[in-house]
Amino acid sequence: MRAIVFNTPGNYAVVERSPIPPGYGDVMVRVEAAGLCGTDFRINKGTSPAKFPVVLGHEFAGVIDEIGPGVKNFVVGDRVSVDPNIVDCAECAACRRGQPHLCDNLIALGVDIDGGFAQYCRVPSRQIYKLPGQMDIEEGAMVEPVSCCLHGLDLLDLRAGERVVIIGGGFIGLVLLQLCLEAGASRVILSDPSPVKRAVALELGAVEAVEPERLHSLTKAEFTDGADVVVEAVGRTETVEQALKLPRKGGRILIFGVAPKGAPVNFSPYDIFSRELSIIGSFINPFTFSRSIEIIASGRLKLKQLVTHRLSLDEIAAGLNPAPDMIKGMVLPQRAASERRR
Ligand SMILES: [Zn+2]
Repeated sequence: MRAIVFNTPGNYAVVERSPIPPGYGDVMVRVEAAGLCGTDFRINKGTSPAKFPVVLGHEFAGVIDEIGPGVKNFVVGDRVSVDPNIVDCAECAACRRGQPHLCDNLIALGVDIDGGFAQYCRVPSRQIYKLPGQMDIEEGAMVEPVSCCLHGLDLLDLRAGERVVIIGGGFIGLVLLQLCLEAGASRVILSDPSPVKRAVALELGAVEAVEPERLHSLTKAEFTDGADVVVEAVGRTETVEQALKLPRKGGRILIFGVAPKGAPVNFSPYDIFSRELSIIGSFINPFTFSRSIEIIASGRLKLKQLVTHRLSLDEIAAGLNPAPDMIKGMVLPQRAASERRR
């Protein structure tokens, strides 16, 4: 099979190799679609950790090609989406507290062990979820990022009628926009430097979509006392600092974007105290995978139109240096190099 192996940050190649056959409790997934994510870009730049050499790709879906011994609930031919986050611990303090997604020993397909930027991937069967028959396989590959957004939404405890600001109109920002509206947000304002992403945000129901510099005055004009909820979906220190300035008294800030590890942020602790702000972190997708499949199957999220780039394994170089207007890049590992652009 063909796979993209990353040896060190920035150093990767498409190689021909034999797939590792499924062991006890594993299935072999023929990968049909694998999304590019900010984490892949960060690993490639060296600002996010991974266990090299490794095949990246942690947002993927495909068809079961082979079943290992001990697998009970799946058969060859099942279309599945993969939850890449493997907790095989139950011993650390977080696991014993009932928060397995915060496990000290968490490992992820496509980060710590080989993932989906390959024609085949070996996956423990407890990490796979059957897709409804009508669900598009690219939508299946987007179950993982949507499941992470659902966890963020759960932590926000959004109430109907609340006013939301979303900083960042990438895939995550545009999914959270839709989920906030689904959950009853009255008005959502989104900011992004890209006019293309702003146009998509307006199409998806944002009341305003503006350049980041305009966000502060607009939020004041629209909401007078600030936003009930601010979602940071960029992961830069500047945007986190901006997010902390936008909520109303008693408002909440969701830190969803992944800032570089160790990057500091300037803020006034007095503001957090006197304005009684809540800063909420959201990490991966505990117990939200099935709900993600449900909400996607309902047809109420517009996901397909967020796929702006489709790439074969050989074309991934373009995907790893994303154009400013890329919303979701989709790697199609079964697509031949010669079969350019659809
Ligand atoms: Zn643990």
